[in-house]
Amino acid sequence: MAAHIIDGKAVSLKIREEAKQRAAVLREKGTIPCLAVVLAGEDPASLSYVKGKSKALAEAGMEGRDIRLSAAVTETELLALIAGLNNDEKVHGILVQLPLPRHIDENKVITAIDPAKDVDGFHPVSVGNMILGRPGFLPCTPHGVLVLLREIKIPLSGAHTVMVGRSNIVGTPLANLLTRRDVNATVTVCHTGTKDLIRHTLQADILIAAAGKPALIKPEMVKPGAVVIDVGVNRVPDNSAKNGYRLCGDVDPAATEKAGYITPVPGGVGPMTIAMLLYNVIQAAEAKV
Ligand code: NAD
Repeated sequence: MAAHIIDGKAVSLKIREEAKQRAAVLREKGTIPCLAVVLAGEDPASLSYVKGKSKALAEAGMEGRDIRLSAAVTETELLALIAGLNNDEKVHGILVQLPLPRHIDENKVITAIDPAKDVDGFHPVSVGNMILGRPGFLPCTPHGVLVLLREIKIPLSGAHTVMVGRSNIVGTPLANLLTRRDVNATVTVCHTGTKDLIRHTLQADILIAAAGKPALIKPEMVKPGAVVIDVGVNRVPDNSAKNGYRLCGDVDPAATEKAGYITPVPGGVGPMTIAMLLYNVIQAAEAKV
């Protein structure tokens, strides 16, 4: 039997609606929640992410301050810009779209953001708070996946979750969130050094793919009835598509026949990332009122 499709778009709209209502309350008090979005260069994928974020902010009654920089911007200039945004009381959140041009040290830039405005949750202080279970901003994609898993109401406590990918923005923080006591899953983290990937994935009650490899997870790698969360967003060439590519996840769509629940690409995790960003901006703005 084909899997239930987890409608990330629908769940994200609920969160965005709540953010909109909270933004309206803040506006009545004279505060317009504002996110500064910094983009250096013209990477097409980054441009489309930034546009999506600005649109979502506007729809929720928040301000998106778009800051577009040339790819030739120097690290010193970027750090000076961040310092200005840190001191700007009208700006509640700062998001620097990654990847940055190669000559800029991403770690330095992320660390320069005031942790109180770190709505991406990438600052070492945010990461530390997350690991210690203290209040703070959670990174948007892992948080979005957690909200989706809670939404389908399957038991997470004790569930064996296999995470494919260990990046700082998805795999590692998500593995951490899932092992928190209030979630209580058991997590196996797989990565490029993992031998015999299928041996691990077949044990997963919940299989999360965040490898950035189109259709890496084949149907035979999925335990029948498992929950499959596909974080991957990969552009694969497609001459029949208007823009010459199509989006493809890390999970082969044929896995729908094996899984119990599955997220589509697009329309699964992607919309949740934006929704959780709005959630963090509201949190940041409310903390200042
Ligand atoms: P990354 O390249 O930083 O990390 C990929 C990870 O996958 C690495 O830890 C690597 O060890 C592991 N990996 C790669 N190939 C593997 C293999 N064959 N077997 C086992 N492990 C393997 O990528 P990322 O930034 O974590 O992103 C992963 C994917 O998620 C990408 O497709 C990205 O576009 C997508 N993404 C989507 C969203 C969203 O909002 N939906 C957000 C962030 C990232």
